[in-house]
Amino acid sequence: MTTKLEKILRTAEKGNGLENQDIRFLLDLEEKEQVEALFATARNLRSRFFGNKIFLYGFLYISTFCRNNCHFCFYRKSNPDSVRYRKDKDDIVSAARELAETGVHLIDLTMGEDPELLMPDGQGIDWLIDVVASVRAATGLPVMVSPGLVPEEMLKRMANEGVSWYACYQETHNPSLFKRLRPGQSYEDRLQGKMMAHSLGLLVEEGLLAGVGESRNDIANSIDMMRCLDADQVRIMNFVPQNGTPMADCLPPDPFRELVVAAVMRLALPDRLIPASLDVDGLGGLKARLDAGANVITSLVPPGQGLAGVAQSSLDIEEGNRTAESAVRILQRNGLRAAFLHEYTDWVQQRRQAIAAVHSKRRSAC
Ligand code: SF4
Repeated sequence: MTTKLEKILRTAEKGNGLENQDIRFLLDLEEKEQVEALFATARNLRSRFFGNKIFLYGFLYISTFCRNNCHFCFYRKSNPDSVRYRKDKDDIVSAARELAETGVHLIDLTMGEDPELLMPDGQGIDWLIDVVASVRAATGLPVMVSPGLVPEEMLKRMANEGVSWYACYQETHNPSLFKRLRPGQSYEDRLQGKMMAHSLGLLVEEGLLAGVGESRNDIANSIDMMRCLDADQVRIMNFVPQNGTPMADCLPPDPFRELVVAAVMRLALPDRLIPASLDVDGLGGLKARLDAGANVITSLVPPGQGLAGVAQSSLDIEEGNRTAESAVRILQRNGLRAAFLHEYTDWVQQRRQAIAAVHSKRRSAC
């Protein structure tokens, strides 16, 4: 191992964080021995902050309608190949209950920027808040809502009426790449939405896509931006080319890319949540993601309910391989375990108190 790498890993392991130039250096690692050392440091840090416990997230894609046309997304408005549905409340609550019974720690309600939900008459938000209340009553679990960019009023209702998390992915923090990937959308508004959510007391998940035309420096800057946002959960996902989209013929990135970025995120944000999504490679890709320092398994989807994934709309779902039971078997084989529910809710509670304290200090300084 080079002295420079050893020095950076030692600094990170002491919890002293990473400079942007260190992040760029780590993102360039390719030699097997060096990458293994990076992954080992990521696992050590996960273990220091979280022990051997891993959190499990149930995923319900409740509406696949969207007003936008992101170039990378299967569910873009103008994709005729996309599966479209909008689940009703009873179906959502029943799927959430089923997920809760399998031992997940959170229910993630994801949707496109569904025009019906965002109607100015407010009926859409009333519906969503009612769904959240019903899911919480039926499961007793925290809820994450991933509705895309929404008005401030809607964030306020979410914060005041029982939502714990707001997930909204920038996918890149290079504004000109953002403009190409997300035509007609505002980079600034999307970022501001997350800051607003945090100031209202919601936990925030930020996310990146790898393999969509970004440079190594773009990824390093994104990791810096995630620290600047003080994001509570940070995800990296390799781009999967989608039928019927302008990027359908793009080559997917090296599968290794996602793992290296995840490990660097763990070094840069050691006490935060980093998901291992089943959405790109299914259950077969889980061990590699855990080995890179992830501590949440996301995209657990119940079979038999006609529910879709995001990057892979159907991979492993109806085969029953996106279940907590299958994931837990892999955890056990790797010396890890599913957290107890109270361990997850304690973490959520502590983070919410931490962000409330930061924002109250900022308000009193103004
Ligand atoms: S990424 Fe989100 S906002 Fe963009 S088209 Fe897909 S569902 Fe809509």
